[in-house]
Amino acid sequence: MNKTYKAIIFDRDGTLNATSRSEGGYVLCADDLTLLPFVQESLKKLKDKGLKLYVFTQQRCIGKGLLTEEELTEIHKKLNALLGENAAIDAFYHCPHLVDAECACSKPKPGMLFDCMKEHNLNPDDVLVVGDSLRDFYAAQNAQLDFAFVPNDLGKHTSEEYAATGAPYFQNLHDLVNKVFKK
Ligand SMILES: [Mg+2]
Repeated sequence: MNKTYKAIIFDRDGTLNATSRSEGGYVLCADDLTLLPFVQESLKKLKDKGLKLYVFTQQRCIGKGLLTEEELTEIHKKLNALLGENAAIDAFYHCPHLVDAECACSKPKPGMLFDCMKEHNLNPDDVLVVGDSLRDFYAAQNAQLDFAFVPNDLGKHTSEEYAATGAPYFQNLHDLVNKVFKK
């Protein structure tokens, strides 16, 4: 991981914002969105270092009819408002499809990561993917990208499960930024 990354592609729920306590864990309105600790200051530090920040997020709630595309856009506007201009996400990628849909974007498929890299002219060496779940890790692996774990806010996975993947694991985003981007 001693590379000069140009961009980070983050998972959203459980990585940047708190997992919703609603059924299914879906954030279904902007008022239900809260940032996790260290996220704002860590993303600001990364932007200060010149990195571009992106999100790839599974939003099956759209396929289930629980959320519209327009409402998701409002939620992402709220996320960027909470982050502030100097820590904002540069672009969002989401998969709205149901589990059995034959899409290319459902995690752990790498479609969202490939779309992001293509649209922003990123090479695999330029990108670090950060997430809290195993499907995030496997999506990054399927795209042949470096990956780092931060713990899920609800303790969905054990540290042993994270360690078994061989991917680096950080206590939180503050820890990750300090160790990977310390210069
Ligand atoms: Mg997550």
